[in-house]
Amino acid sequence: MPGPGEFELIREYFSARFQASTGASGDQGVVLGIGDDCALLTPPAGKILATSVDTLVAGVHFPADARPDFIASRALRVNLSDLAAMNAEPLWFTLALTLRQSDPEWLEPFARGLAETAKQYGITLVGGDTTKGPLSITIQVTGACEKPLRRDGARAGDTIFVSNQLGASAAGLPLILRERDGSIKQKEQAYLAYHFPQPQFAVARAIGPYASSALDISDGLLGDLGHICAASKLGAELNLNDLPVAELAYSMNADTALETALTGGDDYQLCFTVPEKHLDIVQNLQLPITAIGTMHREPGIQCTLNGKSWQPRSTSYRHF
Ligand SMILES: [Mg+2]
Repeated sequence: MPGPGEFELIREYFSARFQASTGASGDQGVVLGIGDDCALLTPPAGKILATSVDTLVAGVHFPADARPDFIASRALRVNLSDLAAMNAEPLWFTLALTLRQSDPEWLEPFARGLAETAKQYGITLVGGDTTKGPLSITIQVTGACEKPLRRDGARAGDTIFVSNQLGASAAGLPLILRERDGSIKQKEQAYLAYHFPQPQFAVARAIGPYASSALDISDGLLGDLGHICAASKLGAELNLNDLPVAELAYSMNADTALETALTGGDDYQLCFTVPEKHLDIVQNLQLPITAIGTMHREPGIQCTLNGKSWQPRSTSYRHF
């Protein structure tokens, strides 16, 4: 059991680790980092700040027995994905960590995984808090943008795109939870998709000047595209023959692969819309993106497969 002052040590532990990792681009604007009552930060001149917070609870948002460095990677990456989805460049983050006990064998790899991920994306830890209780991780990220990509900018006739492939994380979840066995290749694909989602900064930066709306797909394409529809007061039609379904979704279960790609969670790919006038430019940007449908005035999302109307069995995200 942690004694009084032990959580003070954790704070020291993170301070030391993250002060050693300074030099990332996000260090810009840090007047005073970890250690005082507040961090002191200077926003980049002329930019808009984007901020988002997310809590991940053990046993709800990640398996409690997952590797601590994997947990840290996922926790920071899912938050970074929200910055990417707004076309914001990462600057700073804060961490609130709730732990049952102060265990160096858990904390050391967790802090290392967090520092490695932070360094990779140029984001700097500027403050935090630790408390005692069931394991949960809250991260607040702040970034800066010039032209934010909002959900409410789509217009009827805009083309809908997604980045990369969908469905790998949801399809691989039974392997992560060890409910099912799979090949080494399948397990690798599942671990990469689930614990190392790739915030789509490069795609967001490239489409930023041309897209009319965007978000990151965290709860499944149908549900998240529904957010763009609701915010933009429109509907959508999707051609499922064009949907980029991840190889792992097919290899886990070919019968449900399409449904998994449409409604599974945790993809962290971008879904965005592009007006007709910018379509040629966006399609010639050499990006890993696929056009999958069109925004229209009629409410709701209509799906077509092989020229016929297609209904998913559910649109909800599976929490475990
Ligand atoms: Mg999001």
